[in-house]
Amino acid sequence: FSFTYKPIKDANGQVYAIIHAATDVTKLVQLQQQKDEFLGIASHELKTPVTSIKAYAQVLERMIRSEGDEKKATMVRKMDQQLNRLTGLIGDLLDVTKIQSGKMTFNPIEFDFDAVVEDIVDEMQHISSKHKIICNLESNAIVFADKERIGQVITNFLSNAIKYSTDADEIDVATYSQNGEVILSVRDYGIGISEDLQHLVFDQFYRVDGNLQHTYPGLGLGLYISAEIIKSEGGRIWVESTAGEGATFFFALKIK
Ligand code: ADP
Repeated sequence: FSFTYKPIKDANGQVYAIIHAATDVTKLVQLQQQKDEFLGIASHELKTPVTSIKAYAQVLERMIRSEGDEKKATMVRKMDQQLNRLTGLIGDLLDVTKIQSGKMTFNPIEFDFDAVVEDIVDEMQHISSKHKIICNLESNAIVFADKERIGQVITNFLSNAIKYSTDADEIDVATYSQNGEVILSVRDYGIGISEDLQHLVFDQFYRVDGNLQHTYPGLGLGLYISAEIIKSEGGRIWVESTAGEGATFFFALKIK
């Protein structure tokens, strides 16, 4: 049951009665569970064929390229890029079901933080040649955390920076150590986020303003998942931004 209380006041503002309401939420909870279960099964079932199509697309691209047909090879590579997007979306849906059922697992290891950031930046730079990603990696920190999951957050920050700054050509990535924490920042010079909306961006399903949703497609899950990962690792995550001037996303992790 969910309970609500509402005081009833007289003309002098004195409370003379309280309305108690009890609502049976059993059905709602059941529906929520069914929805979560369905999302889990659906995303799992979608993952298998997409992974298989992706493997075929990669073999096909190699075959076509070796035959020297660049035009066809480019088309297959574009297919592969869209499959990557699809894999990412399915992965996000799977992660959300894991978070909601408390089944997201973490396998912490010790790793060189700056080296991991550098590898991911190299990979992203390869994918997006439009932006120049400038690095200032000075944390010199060894971090004990789930390397894959932390990498997922860094990738998410970078892909958002690329996505939400189509008219800019630079992204700045920095790492540093301060007061027993390692801090990563990703700064872009794109559309930014107005102050009143900044506290919403880490919420599940929060998306850019209505009329911009076609320009910037997405599910509104990346930052929610990133925040869950960073919180589970005992860290902090936040954003600083001025609308129209770009955004800087940060996270901090304790150095063990
Ligand atoms: P998605 O990008 O799929 O919408 P995210 O959870 O990654 O989902 O981001 C949620 C929202 O936060 C975005 O829709 C956008 O409004 C805002 N946002 C995220 N990153 C940036 C950025 N670098 N610049 C401006 N807005 C951003």
